[in-house]
Amino acid sequence: MSDCIFCKIAEGEIPTAKVYEDDQIVCFHDADPQAPVHVLIIPKKHIPSMDDLTEEDATLVGHIMVKIKDIARDLGLTNGYRVVNNCGEDGFQTVKHLHFHILGKRKMTWPPG
Ligand code: AMP
Ligand code: ZN
Repeated sequence: MSDCIFCKIAEGEIPTAKVYEDDQIVCFHDADPQAPVHVLIIPKKHIPSMDDLTEEDATLVGHIMVKIKDIARDLGLTNGYRVVNNCGEDGFQTVKHLHFHILGKRKMTWPPG
């Protein structure tokens, strides 16, 4: 969609700090992080929100879920993390392109113990 900021990120029109990308999805750092680690994972396909998902999208959403786990591990979130989806007006969704927030803190390796 031409006026969608996350479509522009997915298409590389807006530069962003990408964490992961494949043919179906992109993961990048949130511009206004609410946790020490805060990334967003989006489908490249423009889907406005969770509310717009159809059975056709089931494989894509399943792929996102599996990659969330891999990305969290790669970001060092070895002690757990939150996955958040805001849907629609009452869900406080601000960007109308489906996205999942991954929030966490890296396990401290210093100081030891
Ligand atoms: P939501 O309230 O779930 O719609 O969250 C949208 C998220 O997108 C917010 O956490 C914003 O900080 C983030 N965001 C908006 N624009 C950008 C951008 N250009 N690059 C990275 N994150 C963004
Ligand atoms: Zn979009």
